Amino acid sequence: MSTPVIGVLALQGDVREHLVALAAADAAVARPVRRPEELSEIDGLVIPGGESTTISKLAVLFGVMAPLRARVRDGMPVYGTCAGMIMLADKILDPRSGQETIGGIDMIVRRNAFGRQNESFEAALDVKGIAGEPVEGVFIRAPWVESVGAAAEVLAEHDGHIVAVRQGNALATSFHPELTGDHRVHGLFVDVVRAYRTAESL
Ligand code: GLN
Repeated sequence: MSTPVIGVLALQGDVREHLVALAAADAAVARPVRRPEELSEIDGLVIPGGESTTISKLAVLFGVMAPLRARVRDGMPVYGTCAGMIMLADKILDPRSGQETIGGIDMIVRRNAFGRQNESFEAALDVKGIAGEPVEGVFIRAPWVESVGAAAEVLAEHDGHIVAVRQGNALATSFHPELTGDHRVHGLFVDVVRAYRTAESL
């Protein structure tokens, strides 16, 4: 079977780092996506870290918000890191005015919950589904998840706060695996995309 194509939403944020991590995670062709018509050419999408209010506004402006919601609703795999996690939350506790999300994960997120830029930190995390050594979590003005609904599964916590969640084909982390050189979380996402492609082609 041909190699899955995974897009990285390239409106704002650390797009390049995700493209590199996906390429290194193997078995995937990674490409930037910013136009609605490009959405139909991908099997999965990563939403990078950055600034969720900016990503939200640009997604509406570029006309990708509505088609993206439709594809996520149809089951296209998505993986959001940090600002990307916020974009996948059904609800933001403290949205800026006009801030919208794509949604897809039944969770409530709190933006900037772990503090300001200069309070960024790293922590070793046990992530469900990732074997071996703990994952080094890089937290940069990171959100945490206040609560999840019944359909969402918690994959990791830090200091009693939820920092990784999965619901069906949607994955979200408060932290940034694309910055560490450890590509196991991206590998997990590539596996989700592969399974989706196999199911779709049956
Ligand atoms: N605090 C940012 C936001 O609200 C997220 C920070 C990040 O992605 N590193 O979008």
